[in-house]
Amino acid sequence: MSQAGAPPVRWVFLDRDGTINVPPPKGQYVTHSKQLQLLPGAAAAIRVLNRAGVWVGIVTNQRGVALGCMGEDELDAIHAHLRELLARAGARLDAIYHCPHEQGVCACRKPQPGLLLAAKRAHPGLDFAHAAVVGDSDADVQAGLAVGAHTILLTTEEHGKQAGSGADHIACSLLDAVSWLREARGLGGGA
Ligand SMILES: [Mg+2]
Ligand SMILES: [Zn+2]
Repeated sequence: MSQAGAPPVRWVFLDRDGTINVPPPKGQYVTHSKQLQLLPGAAAAIRVLNRAGVWVGIVTNQRGVALGCMGEDELDAIHAHLRELLARAGARLDAIYHCPHEQGVCACRKPQPGLLLAAKRAHPGLDFAHAAVVGDSDADVQAGLAVGAHTILLTTEEHGKQAGSGADHIACSLLDAVSWLREARGLGGGA
């Protein structure tokens, strides 16, 4: 049962590395499909959202493109593989938005909200009051706060990080986050 007055969540934006898949070591990038490994429960969490009729999109910084670690075609192949891994678990993504840029040269690299705003342009019916942003970094939280979405920070550090990030909620995994959203806000539902 959702809380009275809290609008149900119909749009969920997910960070990629560290939220859906095992993150690469700091300073490195997933540059090949073979490096992509789903985190436990990630596909199940997305499946729950799919079945509730929630739109699910990825918003991901991929600066490795600007640095020449991979091309856009390689990134496309990685995302095709990600969709395939999810499909095997009965889960589906509605969209993937990525920022390929270097720091400081664009309006879409998180913590900026440009990727979320691109989704809004593509889906004029998107109301961020019905949206949640889930990610494992402060940049994810800040991007979500900038558009007025509900924000959930994934971390296993129980104390300290939440206050600094300003996240509305903290969870230890994507599945935990989705379970909380379902109980606290309700998922999908008609207008
Ligand atoms: Mg991340
Ligand atoms: Zn960008």
